Amino acid sequence: MKAPVLEIRDFNVDYGLGDQAVRAVRDVTLTLHRGEVLGLAGESGSGKSTLAYGVTRLLPPPGVISGGSVIYHPPGDQPYDVMGLADAELRAFRWAETSIVFQGAMNSLNPVHKVSTQMLDVIRAHEPQLTPPARVARAKEMLKLVGISADRMDAYPHQLSGGMRQRVMIGMALVLEPQIVIMDEPTTALDVVMQRQILAQLVELRERLDFSVLFITHDLSLLVEFADRIAIMYGGRIVEEARSAELYKDSLHPYSEGLLRSFPALRGPRRELSGIPGSPPDLRGMPSGCAFHPRCPHAFDRCSTEIPVLGVPAARNDPNRSVACWLPGRVPVA
Ligand code: ATP
Ligand code: SF4
Repeated sequence: MKAPVLEIRDFNVDYGLGDQAVRAVRDVTLTLHRGEVLGLAGESGSGKSTLAYGVTRLLPPPGVISGGSVIYHPPGDQPYDVMGLADAELRAFRWAETSIVFQGAMNSLNPVHKVSTQMLDVIRAHEPQLTPPARVARAKEMLKLVGISADRMDAYPHQLSGGMRQRVMIGMALVLEPQIVIMDEPTTALDVVMQRQILAQLVELRERLDFSVLFITHDLSLLVEFADRIAIMYGGRIVEEARSAELYKDSLHPYSEGLLRSFPALRGPRRELSGIPGSPPDLRGMPSGCAFHPRCPHAFDRCSTEIPVLGVPAARNDPNRSVACWLPGRVPVA
């Protein structure tokens, strides 16, 4: 595994204050390594977007970061905690070091300006030292990399298809050559073929430009195909983390198993689709112990009284895996 680029440690986010507060992200510890695609999956409401907004400090009220740190490791420089940055440093961090593509980003292009104008604005604001011809060259190069020909640069957003607009947004996210790209359901509004094309292109670009990606989706099948590692989130917590192939072949958490049974097998024999009974937990009344216990087919006494600890499962003893479950063999090594 390569060196870490972003370390999220004991991160907590609440909505509201005092007695009214509900905790949407709970004690999340997650590391993104240099050059990897880390997938974050879980049902709607599991806290994925809240985590992404929290770590980039873009959380709108009533969201409050109630604890934890986010350590960024700049190449060749000392690591620092994003939570401690002043406003001006934070703005620079968000564009130059980290870029974010949120849900429905393709609709956030300004409809009255050409794609070229919007892209050049970003470059001018953050790299004022570049000459105008150098800015145009950079914008053209980036659009070409995401599969948009230079002659579409002067198009208005409405003259492009949804897939093209989303590629433009990904190009904008990459134009300042960030170290980290956070993508929150960036392709959900597109058809399945387009989703896969864009993702395949992103993975190829990552290999050429060497950035790291935190890719958030409720669609685990996408991650199994494209991510290097996958973290599964439930009720605001990470419940399992593993390399994609291992999670697909040998998931350890019953919730991950349920998610995997919710889409057809990618290869090999057909398997029965069954999904997960019940609904995700309500933050205002989280189940005691393991939050998944009311839906878990394997739940036993301990599950409703003690919160399982996320750690390396005793039965696998692989430092690259972790799971939070009380089933025998899955309890972490001490
Ligand atoms: P989705 O895929 O639907 O975006 P998610 O996994 O990204 O889901 P979040 O959007 O992070 O989940 O939501 C986590 C929890 O926080 C949910 O239970 C949601 O109801 C709650 N939540 C989100 N925004 C607010 C808000 N502004 N006020 C109160 N609760 C909120
Ligand atoms: Fe199921 Fe218990 Fe494991 Fe939770 S701790 S996933 S309820 S077996």
